[in-house]
Amino acid sequence: MDANTFREFGKAAVDFVADYYENIRDTDVLPSVSPGYLINLLPKEMPEKPEQWQEILQDVSKLIVPGLTHWQSPNFHAFYPTGSSYPSVVGEMLSAAFGVIGFNWLCSPACTELEVVVMDWLAKFFKLPAHFLHSTKGPGGGIIQGSASESVLIAVMVAREQAVRRVKAAQPELSEGEIRARLVGYSSDQSNSCIEKAGILGTLHIRLLPADESLVMGGTQLAKAVKEDLAKGLIPTVCIATLGATGTCSYDDIASLATVCEEHKIWLHVDAAYAGCALALDEYAHLREGLDRVDSLNYNLHKSLAVNFDCSPMWLRDSHKVVQSFTVERIYLQHNYEGQTDIPEFRHWQISLGRRFRALKVWLTFRTYGADGLREYVRHRIRLAERFENYVLADTRLEIVAKRSMGLVCFRVKGEDNLSTDLLQRITERKKIYMVPATFQGTSFIRFVVCGMEPKECDIDFAWHEIESQLSQLLSERKVTEDETVHNLPENKSEDNHVHHRKDDVVGITQKLSSDLQLSFGATEKSK
Ligand SMILES: *Cc1c(COP(=O)(O)O)cnc(C)c1O
Repeated sequence: MDANTFREFGKAAVDFVADYYENIRDTDVLPSVSPGYLINLLPKEMPEKPEQWQEILQDVSKLIVPGLTHWQSPNFHAFYPTGSSYPSVVGEMLSAAFGVIGFNWLCSPACTELEVVVMDWLAKFFKLPAHFLHSTKGPGGGIIQGSASESVLIAVMVAREQAVRRVKAAQPELSEGEIRARLVGYSSDQSNSCIEKAGILGTLHIRLLPADESLVMGGTQLAKAVKEDLAKGLIPTVCIATLGATGTCSYDDIASLATVCEEHKIWLHVDAAYAGCALALDEYAHLREGLDRVDSLNYNLHKSLAVNFDCSPMWLRDSHKVVQSFTVERIYLQHNYEGQTDIPEFRHWQISLGRRFRALKVWLTFRTYGADGLREYVRHRIRLAERFENYVLADTRLEIVAKRSMGLVCFRVKGEDNLSTDLLQRITERKKIYMVPATFQGTSFIRFVVCGMEPKECDIDFAWHEIESQLSQLLSERKVTEDETVHNLPENKSEDNHVHHRKDDVVGITQKLSSDLQLSFGATEKSK
């Protein structure tokens, strides 16, 4: 393809994207395809002869779009949001176009230096402690990782290597293998699945401690677990706290965890993948409490601040520890200025060697919105969640399960669990809006999250109407069935028993449906 054809193709693609976003409300949020739809439609071999871009772009529209779940639709209310915005999309395109792999400074000075700049901008925007800034000239600083999962894995592995060094120095009689086998980490049973996975990948057992009744993990639980493990001769190594847990967006008590971690030299990492955006708002200043005492922190710009996937900032209080743990040198990786400036060589801070130029989309997005615009971006979504919460509160058939937190509302139909699972099943089959279920202490509920690129009040009203009308239908159909059942009772059976029996059958069926649907948030649900 030559440059002129690229101009045409590229411009047509931009129009295509703008049309997609402008008309996103006209499409069901969930696709109407069956498994294998695309595999069966496409040829088994790549084309032998070149094809025209017009034809290819048409196929994107005809074949690919129908198989999309529209994450940027305002009718998407599942999981947590994934960010997007026009400037971010353009930044992504430019980054792809430059095609640089910035593993050291010389490999693209702009790639490293822009990352240093935007990470400091973001740290200041969040009012993080000064030791996380590159400009403070201490050992701290921020990097953009690909995902929260990668950030957590890095934290677990640095903590592990630091613990091995520390214990080896103090107890030289222990072999490295013996030390590694005794390391243990902690997180809450409400924490994201990526934390347990980081333990598996990092070969460090992570205990998932039960959160309290408000779904919070704090120093009390941690201190108890540490005491048990020390008595067994284990070495407490790392604790991963969450600000905004995946199930109900609860916040762990960072300050009390920090006290225990400081006493036992435990690395304290904070996973603020979704709710970290609250740090930008002074009305949430209490969430910053204790952050001056943590070793590392991650936040997903690609979740709740208008930047598209992948973009997961991570800050380290002492980046020397990462560099010390992970540095592997080769002559071809170095350059003349290496070690002579305080500009970081980010390749030592991450898993892969190659680095995407992610800072570009961040820079474009931050400049286009401005700090004020970004704060409004977060507040707007919180206000929309409040609007939805008010609808739920005003409906006597529904109840709120956990306190509304940021853009998440957890609610259920009052009464038996199968009412909520049946309601969600119906709504999901209709594909107008998309929500996912979760469980809390054995009770099923529905998570409603404000998502999409440009959600508006009318979208919340649309979702509410869908939920409310489906609930009315569900309840009236149930009433008819129950009336019929009662009506057809054989004379010799007591009414109560019979109705009860029927309900048990319904529970059985809905449990099967809900287990097909069920997404497991946190470990307790999985192991239950
Ligand atoms: C979404 C989420 C994750 C996983 O994020 P990835 O970037 O996909 O790895 C981890 N922790 C929390 C609290 C999350 O909300």
